[in-house]
Amino acid sequence: MLGLAATMAPVLFKAACPDCRSRFELSASALRLAIGASRRTTFYSFTCPECGSSVRKPAGERIVELLTGGGVRTLRLHTTV
Ligand SMILES: [Zn+2]
Repeated sequence: MLGLAATMAPVLFKAACPDCRSRFELSASALRLAIGASRRTTFYSFTCPECGSSVRKPAGERIVELLTGGGVRTLRLHTTV
């Protein structure tokens, strides 16, 4: 179990832009993850390096695990439902 966290290679996440349809890889620092009270309010976001568009996509459980495990900054949303 030890060792993986000590890897020197930066973690890159593959992403695609729905606006300009370009594909690219983003480092953890380029991504933001917001975890809300429900699936509908749990999403990740990034700015497209090609066209500058702000992209927001829903994040399922596996994506949340992947992103948090990769060091993506996580914001926990407080809702008043
Ligand atoms: Zn784009």
